[in-house]
Amino acid sequence: MSPYSTNCSAPASWIPNGLLVFFLPPGKKVLIVYAHQEPKSFNGSLLKIAVEELTKQGCSVTVSDLYAMQFEPRATRNDIVGHLHNSEAFNYGVETWEAYKRGCLSKDLVEEQKKVREADLLIFQFPLFWFNMPAILKGWMDRVLVRGFAYDLSKIYDGGLLQDKLSLFSFTTGVSQEIYSKEGIGGDIRYVLWPMQHGIMHFCGVKVLEPHICYAPENVSEEKRKEMLAAWTQRLKTLWKEEPINCSPEWYFK
Ligand SMILES: Cc1cc2nc3c(=O)[nH]c(=O)nc-3n(C[C@H](O)[C@H](O)[C@H](O)COP(=O)(O)OP(=O)(O)OC[C@H]3O[C@@H](n4cnc5c(N)ncnc54)[C@H](O)[C@@H]3O)c2cc1C
Repeated sequence: MSPYSTNCSAPASWIPNGLLVFFLPPGKKVLIVYAHQEPKSFNGSLLKIAVEELTKQGCSVTVSDLYAMQFEPRATRNDIVGHLHNSEAFNYGVETWEAYKRGCLSKDLVEEQKKVREADLLIFQFPLFWFNMPAILKGWMDRVLVRGFAYDLSKIYDGGLLQDKLSLFSFTTGVSQEIYSKEGIGGDIRYVLWPMQHGIMHFCGVKVLEPHICYAPENVSEEKRKEMLAAWTQRLKTLWKEEPINCSPEWYFK
């Protein structure tokens, strides 16, 4: 059980005529998909801040703490319960699509899809691994966002099936912002964001907020680290007023 499972039930109270009334928090529903092994890490601190700040705002926050859940990242035959659509030659995309329609996806996928379906905002919190998200998070994308649930034939990009949602990629790097500039050896950090934001989220119809990037937390002073954490708290305070980015190739490559 993750220490961050803060999805709380609504408080209830009795009114004189005996009707049970639920006072739901007025806020939005947020799913944070978190991929770091260590709660004391900088990513762990960013997660803690997001949970505390969004909960304070009245949001209902759910965390999928992937390492703590021992989330299975591999896309395999085990994701389909019961018989296959075509047992002669296994095709993961076709089989999960068919299984989704039959209600025969594995329990862990059904649970993650339920969290996504209910969420207004998806936050992905992780350290950058090889110019990408950690494999456990990529596995979450591969397995959870199946055809029929997240996209379908011709229901892609602005027509994707998750159009009512926002997303935000919040991550840390090992190296400085200068390295991730057009002139730097790493190239513009937006190149890294293209497959994540455009190739996955935008493809499924999810709108994308500006990413939140904390550069090189291991190599800066304690004071700078505190500043970065305070900046995240500050951003979260006005997050719901933000407009999504224009998720077009120009945003990434111009
Ligand atoms: C396989 C692999 C591939 C990688 N590929 C890349 C890559 O392609 N590009 C790249 O740039 N980097 C890469 N890295 C580096 C990686 O992105 C960084 O190591 C990571 O982002 C650092 O984040 P962290 O949360 O693990 O930091 P941590 O090491 O956990 O934290 C940094 C410091 O912050 C401190 N801290 C934590 N919480 C607080 C707090 N509340 N207040 C003050 N201080 C705090 C910690 O104690 C620590 O001293 C890679 C790393 C690995 C393992």
